[in-house]
Amino acid sequence: MTMQKNINTEILNQDMKSLRKACYFLNKNELVSFPTETVYGLGASAISNIGVAKIFSVKGRPKYNPLIIHIANKQDADKWAQVPKEAELLIESFWPGPLTLVLNRKKPFTALSTLVTGNLETIAIRVPLHPTARALIKEFGSPLAAPSANISGRISPTRAKDVLVNMDGKISALIKGDDCSIGLESTIVSFANNEPVLLRPGGLPEEIIEEKLGRPLLKSTQVLSNQRKIIAPGMMESHYAPNCNLKLNQVNSQTNELFLGFGDMPKNAIGLNLSLTRNLKEAATNFFATLTDIDTMAELMRYKTVCVAPIPNLGLGVAINDRLKRAAIKKES
Ligand code: AMP
Ligand code: MG
Repeated sequence: MTMQKNINTEILNQDMKSLRKACYFLNKNELVSFPTETVYGLGASAISNIGVAKIFSVKGRPKYNPLIIHIANKQDADKWAQVPKEAELLIESFWPGPLTLVLNRKKPFTALSTLVTGNLETIAIRVPLHPTARALIKEFGSPLAAPSANISGRISPTRAKDVLVNMDGKISALIKGDDCSIGLESTIVSFANNEPVLLRPGGLPEEIIEEKLGRPLLKSTQVLSNQRKIIAPGMMESHYAPNCNLKLNQVNSQTNELFLGFGDMPKNAIGLNLSLTRNLKEAATNFFATLTDIDTMAELMRYKTVCVAPIPNLGLGVAINDRLKRAAIKKES
């Protein structure tokens, strides 16, 4: 497959005519970025091997990291997967929304590109809440594979302009919507082995899922040791990485450092704030955009380090801390 270079990235609106144009590209095995309530997605037809291969190529994503399938209607889940009773309960309660379920695939295997699932026996699937995302999938008439629209390992885009920084000239179109309302990727729960396992904290807090199930979710670390292979993005240690160094759980910063606050800023600190009122929902919505902006600020000011305030580790704070921890790990190159 030839790598896509310097193609024209068309900016589309969210009206039906624009969505039809997006479908025209998708039908030609091209890539289209679109808004969801979590982060902007990088979409290809999930049944197109060429389209899906382009996602991996354009993102520089490791081939062993399979993709989430996005469908328009929750009633369609069992076309693609075996849905156990507890998964059905979560589907009824939380779809459409920021919850991805990992389920055993329907046998005989469906028409999905083998690249989408890494040819695993499982499939990761969700119904997005964003009206444009759902209208696009409905109009396309078949599932879309859609990871976040960033270069692999970099900060996930929650604003159209951040998609362009990553993808301009590499994809056929960007459907330009508002900033993403939830701002964090979906929570991933696996039912591959009957017991529900939290593979990744995300936009739907685990406490809410546990309350609905009436029992705790197993954590991927608990099952990792006795399972041959569990694939979670959470397993990618360095991710969401800015260029600056992040120092987590700080209450202050030095004069040559920036501060990313949650609540009141320390005296004399310069930087940005996730939520002055210490509201975790607001902090989640602002998270990736603020991380992007403070990284730019650090670069312009020639500061190497951003100190980050402690974020309470409950509700959406768990997902924020998960992203921060990975963002703080520096890659070798
Ligand atoms: P993202 O990086 O946001 O696109 O999320 C993709 C993640 O969903 C992967 O890293 C896996 O954890 C999970 N996933 C996707 N497809 C599968 C699959 N077929 N089986 C198990 N997990 C999957
Ligand atoms: Mg991603």
